[in-house]
Amino acid sequence: MLHLQNFLNGTFAPPASGKYLPNSNPATAEVFSQIPDSDERDVQEAVRAARQAFPAWSNLSAEKRGRHLMRLSALIDQNLERLAEAETTDNGKPLTLSRTMDIPRASSNLHFFGTGIQHFASESHFMEGVAVNYTVRRPLGVVACISPWNLPLYLFTWKIAPALAAGNCVVAKPSEITPYTAHLLAELCVEAGLPAGVLNIVHGTGAKVGAALVEHPDVKAISFTGGTQTGKTIARTAAPMFKKLSLELGGKNATVIFADCDFEKTVTTAVQAAFANQGQICLCGSRILVERPLYEQFKAAFLEKVNALKVGDPLEEETNIGALVSEQHLQKVQQYIALAKEEGGTLLTGGGRVHLEGRCANGYFLQPTVFENLPHTCRTNTEEIFGPVVTLMPFDSEEDAVHFANYTEYGLAASVWTQDLTRAHRVAHALHAGIVWVNTWLLRDLRTPFGGMKQSGVGREGGWEALRFFTEPQNVCVKL
Ligand code: NAD
Repeated sequence: MLHLQNFLNGTFAPPASGKYLPNSNPATAEVFSQIPDSDERDVQEAVRAARQAFPAWSNLSAEKRGRHLMRLSALIDQNLERLAEAETTDNGKPLTLSRTMDIPRASSNLHFFGTGIQHFASESHFMEGVAVNYTVRRPLGVVACISPWNLPLYLFTWKIAPALAAGNCVVAKPSEITPYTAHLLAELCVEAGLPAGVLNIVHGTGAKVGAALVEHPDVKAISFTGGTQTGKTIARTAAPMFKKLSLELGGKNATVIFADCDFEKTVTTAVQAAFANQGQICLCGSRILVERPLYEQFKAAFLEKVNALKVGDPLEEETNIGALVSEQHLQKVQQYIALAKEEGGTLLTGGGRVHLEGRCANGYFLQPTVFENLPHTCRTNTEEIFGPVVTLMPFDSEEDAVHFANYTEYGLAASVWTQDLTRAHRVAHALHAGIVWVNTWLLRDLRTPFGGMKQSGVGREGGWEALRFFTEPQNVCVKL
């Protein structure tokens, strides 16, 4: 049995409690590793190590820090297959997805910020004949990065990379549900020669490790991705301590399809947006709004493609839909399927658990599920399900489409499908979402601001936004 360890001050250490939690493979329901059940004592240790490492790390030139991150990025590339297999074992997602999306993106995150920091310059503001202002940006010190289970190494590195690049030292907590690739990343940090204490990883539950990190007075900023309820809990503790907070939370995203769209491209991408990663991406388009004249044609083509998706062993090449991340999450999604029926929805396809043969006989597989005939106001259409469950809704006017799309507490992402350029811009501007795609989905440029409006979060990640978050500006005004 694999025993993961915390990564403290450059070495692997057991938890102070001496206790471990079981970690299972969602495709087989078998426990394959034990993870440290850490608590505030381990967090104390990690923060102490990070504080000690901070002066030397923050005084390294941006170029040298960047080189460390690029070495780590190269090691991720060299270990692509091993990391992809680990991610799939831990999360249940198809291996093809881990191999083509999760792990390459983890490498890109480190490379992107390792190079980006070289171009992050001080600003100056000249007051004609009076004074010159210059604004320097300093690292904050010790920061915490807390990440979820759906894109484990992808989101873990998305936070750690800008934090380290900007000169901070990090205490990071991966999700206790998918800790494996974070552990492997720690091994690569040793191989890359990252100085001890610069990155520390503490495994365990949110209630113990996450809460201790948020409460620790020496942790100056918290970069969190996860559920909206957890975000609220974190904000309650961190706000009165005046910590910087970046919260990337849930979503209930709309796919808005007009009758003049490029039909084939739209149907294909709407299926991907609905069911990629078993619908467990915060950006998934789970409410599909279709202009009425196209509705029946779209429904038929969409269902045909959905029914062709193969739910199967994540290790098999032809599998499109793997296992949901845990039994508990499977049950949550099943409850939403029951709710959709109670709310009067018509089940068009799916709705049931899939029982595979052989190795995956006990895995948490669910059919891709599509409902219609549900009002835009119902719970199914306003609450985040975070699974392979979507609804189809017709609309009659652009105003209705925007009204339905905005009718949720969330405001993370949306996609708009039309050939009418003016309408595309108009609708994009009317949508209350931090990220709008036009005639595409999940096309990411790491320089752009990433994050949500309303209850989808506070602040933005990506590009300069992330580097600004992880630094404190100081303006110096010099009288001429
Ligand atoms: P979660 O909120 O349960 O957990 C996220 C992380 O927070 C985990 O590491 C967990 O251990 C930790 N945590 C839990 N309680 C804590 C506490 N009190 N204090 C500090 N840390 C605590 O979320 P999840 O179920 O792992 O992930 C799914 C959610 O994440 C969905 O809502 C999804 O939309 C959201 N998500 C958002 C984005 C985005 O960029 N906006 C991206 C991916 C996932």
